[in-house]
Amino acid sequence: MTDQNDILFERARAVIPGGVNSPVRAFKAVGGTPRFIQRAQGAYFWDANDKRYIDYIGSWGPMILGHGHPAVIEAVQKAVLEGFSYGAPTEREIELAEAILALVPSMEMVRLVSSGTEAAMSALRLARGATGRKTIVKFEGCYHGHADALLVKAGSGLATFGNPTSAGVPPEVVQHTLVLEYNNLQQLEEAFALHGSDIACLMIEAIAGNMNFVRATPAFAKRCRELCTQHGALLIFDEVMTGFRVGLHGAQGVLGITPDLTVLGKVIGGGMPLAAFGGPRAIMEQLAPLGPVYQAGTLSGNPVATACGLATLKEISKPGFYEALAQKTRTLVDGLKAAAAAEGQPFNADSEGGMFGFFLMNELPQNYATVMTTDNAQFNALFHGLLDRGVYIAPALYEAGFVSAAHSEDDIAATIAAARDIFRKR
Ligand SMILES: *Cc1c(COP(=O)(O)O)cnc(C)c1O
Repeated sequence: MTDQNDILFERARAVIPGGVNSPVRAFKAVGGTPRFIQRAQGAYFWDANDKRYIDYIGSWGPMILGHGHPAVIEAVQKAVLEGFSYGAPTEREIELAEAILALVPSMEMVRLVSSGTEAAMSALRLARGATGRKTIVKFEGCYHGHADALLVKAGSGLATFGNPTSAGVPPEVVQHTLVLEYNNLQQLEEAFALHGSDIACLMIEAIAGNMNFVRATPAFAKRCRELCTQHGALLIFDEVMTGFRVGLHGAQGVLGITPDLTVLGKVIGGGMPLAAFGGPRAIMEQLAPLGPVYQAGTLSGNPVATACGLATLKEISKPGFYEALAQKTRTLVDGLKAAAAAEGQPFNADSEGGMFGFFLMNELPQNYATVMTTDNAQFNALFHGLLDRGVYIAPALYEAGFVSAAHSEDDIAATIAAARDIFRKR
């Protein structure tokens, strides 16, 4: 039997670097051939061999309603007939802006862009422009897209400036980026004590989803807010992943903390290229065309993308949506924990709303370094075991997982059973 995924991967590698348009899709961390997806519906997608998978990546977060939700499809089809893109403003952009602001009270104004990378990069420029300062603080294991200044790993000492994590990023470009350990209060205090008056902003995933799933402790998140206020720095919550995913009001709603700027993406586009950043009027009015901070985009606020985002927001705003989603996700997480316990597999897991993470260790990690102590071979065996059994989780141990409204009790039960089978045969 010929494997169509192998055939497509070979063709793809001839014309696309690594055969993929975003690195994690290449299965490099776990080995094997990436599955080329031909279609999706509800909680499932089908690969090039027509094999069905229960989908726990949901396009890395956006597909919170599952694939092919009828109300979303209807809105997108209607929008397509009215035109793809105009390069002139539309009423739908106002509607989406109003819908976002109504749900995220820390934001008084919002600008729409096309990707999370673009939104984070623009929020960073705005923070520097608004404060007139250069230094930015980020945390190891948090991902804010691939803008130069944010592709940084921690330096050698405490509260020292970091080193680029990508070729093509000159050290001078990251010389103003301080990288600290997540949940490390002492480093945080030290950074502000040393550099407070130079810090333009602190950017954080307050529930981190790019080092698997790690929560900022309430004390840590609170201290980030206090120190920013005290030193005149802006607190930026990167909620590209957590926004409308961990709850209707994002990680800021879960933690009860008001950031200065919020970065959104993924769910707000419902699977279309759409992202946003926003905050108080006085800061947002620093942006062009009103202010001196330049930012622009040919496809920003695209009429088809905004239709998709609006229809998605409408569905997730319905009463009880997040209660049901969170319950389903907890059922999965609790079931996996019980399966691991029954088979003597070290394991722990956590979830919030429709986002979850699990670890092949008994403790829930507090930072990136601990996450990365996970046994790679064990994770890869679990990943491929699940894949063989028709369950698709993220192909890297440092990624979070996503449950959609379309996942059924049966899907969850089948996933738990598959995991238990793998734990047993380990
Ligand atoms: C996905 C993600 C981004 C980048 O968004 P893209 O749309 O992939 O550019 C930024 N920040 C966080 C927290 C993300 O999860």
